[in-house]
Amino acid sequence: MKYRSSRGGVSGLGFRDAVMMGLATDGGLLIPHDIPDVRDKLVSWSSHSFQELAISIMAEYIDDIPVEDLTLLVTDSYARFNHEKVTPLVPLGDFHLLELFHGPTLAFKDIALQFLGNVFEYILDDQKGYLNILGATSGDTGSAAIESVRGKSNINIFILFPEGRTSPVQEAQMTTVLDANVFNIGVDGSFDDCQSLIKTIFSDLPFKQEYQLGAVNSVNWARVLAQIVYYFFAWYELGRPETFDVSVPTGNFGDIFAGYLAKRMGLPIRKLILATNRNDILARFFHTGVYQRGEVYISESPAMDIQVSSNFERYLYYALDGSCEKVSEFMAGFLDEGVARLDFNTSGFDESFLAGSADDEETLKTIRNIYEEENYLVDPHAAVGISVGNRLRTPDVPLLCLSTAHPAKFEGAINKAIPGLTPSHESLEALAGLPMRKEKMGADVAQVKAFIGQHGLR
Ligand SMILES: *Cc1c(COP(=O)(O)O)cnc(C)c1O
Repeated sequence: MKYRSSRGGVSGLGFRDAVMMGLATDGGLLIPHDIPDVRDKLVSWSSHSFQELAISIMAEYIDDIPVEDLTLLVTDSYARFNHEKVTPLVPLGDFHLLELFHGPTLAFKDIALQFLGNVFEYILDDQKGYLNILGATSGDTGSAAIESVRGKSNINIFILFPEGRTSPVQEAQMTTVLDANVFNIGVDGSFDDCQSLIKTIFSDLPFKQEYQLGAVNSVNWARVLAQIVYYFFAWYELGRPETFDVSVPTGNFGDIFAGYLAKRMGLPIRKLILATNRNDILARFFHTGVYQRGEVYISESPAMDIQVSSNFERYLYYALDGSCEKVSEFMAGFLDEGVARLDFNTSGFDESFLAGSADDEETLKTIRNIYEEENYLVDPHAAVGISVGNRLRTPDVPLLCLSTAHPAKFEGAINKAIPGLTPSHESLEALAGLPMRKEKMGADVAQVKAFIGQHGLR
């Protein structure tokens, strides 16, 4: 399989080069030249474990890593998950929930990042290369990035977070990782300050080159690829229904885009239900074709407090019938004016999707109802998906909802939904009292660069 940019400036890349490039050099996103049709393989995969399924699906998209090596990479990536099925399916009343949070940081990002970290290490070993990963987090995703590369000899990671503004558990998940290649930096400032520091540092091209600065953000193709797997796995666990709807709590459009690819590969998904919180730019787009930036609201599902979705351009490529010119035009228009429009009538492309949003009140009510009716606690992100999924589902068709985080990570929201209840998880409790390591810095580019200069691989 070869990869090309959604904007047409790059093509013919192998999987390894696509992973190392991350964002395409022309500013677009890397996508496969073709989407493999796997319908005639579905029966032969039916007794596969999660790992075997991952290897079979990934092998459709990777032809420059031998299958024996891919097998080791996949096995290692899911060895730290605390459930033998990796992503178990749970029946809840008249729908099913797929638990994606059994990885080391209890959030679904682990599924893709554990794999990406291993692939990076594998390729760098081969090239005798090195990488310094630089990222910013408002709290929720930094730990998944850290866990993906901790202890690797050819990768160092520097994570900036707003000092004092992440929850104590989030901070502990990051700062109790004491591996020598992990550097947590508490910045005296906001999350926006952290992001703008990173942007400035990445824009210093000689510095970026010298330190081989990289990112593990959600535009990396390997992350999308790893997420395709559990859509198939869930279908087998559901007993291979003729068709089913899937509801996906959505922020950067990475998760649901993987579902879209699964559908195009031949998995019989009837509708992909895109669920957002009050930050509903994507839900509005699928209703009107208008992609318009708005203000970012802070919600009870913070991992989805996003207005501009970094993976959306991949979908746009298919929605615009593979026209790189039209993708470039759309994105340029959006960048200039904060709004762009797609005419669904001529491309007729929205059939795969339904979309809706749920505000905080509805989210908390869903958490409470499910707890009362099923004695099961969902986190606020899953609750958004469950609310919208049940509102938009097709009658008499099975509904699968994706559960993206363990509720213990979002104690505040759970407490609001069900006063007096404090969710817990043993792996979070085990962090209490552990030694921590972090640096504190001002929101000062020179200071952060000097630190990377001192501790970065070169
Ligand atoms: C990242 C994240 C999401 C959103 O996934 P996207 O791929 O960005 O759409 C949903 N829930 C949780 C808990 C997340 O961390």
